[in-house]
Amino acid sequence: MADIIRLLPDHVANQIAAGEVVQRPASVVKELIENAIDAKASIIKLIVKDGGKSLIQVVDDGMGMSATDARLSFERHATSKITDAQDLFNLNTKGFRGEALASIAAIAHVDMQTRTENQELGTQLRIEGSKVVMQEPTVAPKGTSVAVKNLFFNIPARRNFLKSNQVELRHITDEFHRVALAHPNIGFHFFNNGFELFNLPKTNLRQRIVHVFGSKMNERLVPVEEETQVAKISGFICKPEFAKKSRGSQFFFANDRFIKSPYLHHAVMAAFEGLIKPDTVPGYFLYLQVAANSIDINIHPTKTEVKFDDENTLYAILRSAVKHALGQFNVAPALDFER
Ligand code: ADP
Ligand code: MG
Repeated sequence: MADIIRLLPDHVANQIAAGEVVQRPASVVKELIENAIDAKASIIKLIVKDGGKSLIQVVDDGMGMSATDARLSFERHATSKITDAQDLFNLNTKGFRGEALASIAAIAHVDMQTRTENQELGTQLRIEGSKVVMQEPTVAPKGTSVAVKNLFFNIPARRNFLKSNQVELRHITDEFHRVALAHPNIGFHFFNNGFELFNLPKTNLRQRIVHVFGSKMNERLVPVEEETQVAKISGFICKPEFAKKSRGSQFFFANDRFIKSPYLHHAVMAAFEGLIKPDTVPGYFLYLQVAANSIDINIHPTKTEVKFDDENTLYAILRSAVKHALGQFNVAPALDFER
């Protein structure tokens, strides 16, 4: 029998990878903003139209790219962030897979403009379904702008699966909240259909939380602070009386990256035990810093699930940190009454 196995062409491989990386417009938002952060941007602008279905654009003032790098950035497994497998165990960037731009460009129309500090002219580039249709020098500010149009134009099934503009915008906003809370020291703008939804100047964490969730949040926040050999924990929990039936303000960040962790959530719930009604959930914004080599981020393409080396210890530290914070908050008024 004749040989029948063949290597898939790049654009097909990219489209397959895109299935994992790009679920919906919000995934594109996440990837583009993370790239801007990795490029050391100090101000990031997010512009979307029609829930991201017709436009998702991220403009940063970061390091930009040379003309060659701009072209290469769309190749699969092309990255400036790691060089060998060892680096996977010591990640200091959001990205490392070199897959996002290749995936996005496989299933959308992408316009990039970029310029590094010491280039006289910048580069503009247009890619449609993995094909470079234009690349030429252009006048551009320092930094990078990536505009993604007509997402899933070549995958009708995916395009039809998208929810209403309003629901997709909701997902984008969730993603925006996560990244804005992870990086209060970066300024963010967020425009939807020409209307500015958020203007977040760079600031400290408390102000960022209040900016995002409104001034009523300020009185609810109780600081959490704990430092051990395994982890440093900081951030805020919300006072027990503001626990809610619906979830919405529960945020964990590990090494500046939003993560989902039912296990760590349980640790927080354990600390709140007896203080809140059983069917309610407290709000929290908790930041874990652990050694880069004690966390595995490479579990899933979207990187929101991670694996900690010493999860049980982390659980215990977190629970005690939250308990301690709650204790201080509860004890203070009681002492006042006794005097
Ligand atoms: P990864 O982020 O995993 O490296 P991406 O496909 O997201 O993979 O990006 C590929 C490369 O393109 C990055 O490693 C980086 O060098 C470059 N790049 C992407 N976005 C930007 C940006 N906004 N500013 C500067 N460089 C960028
Ligand atoms: Mg990336």
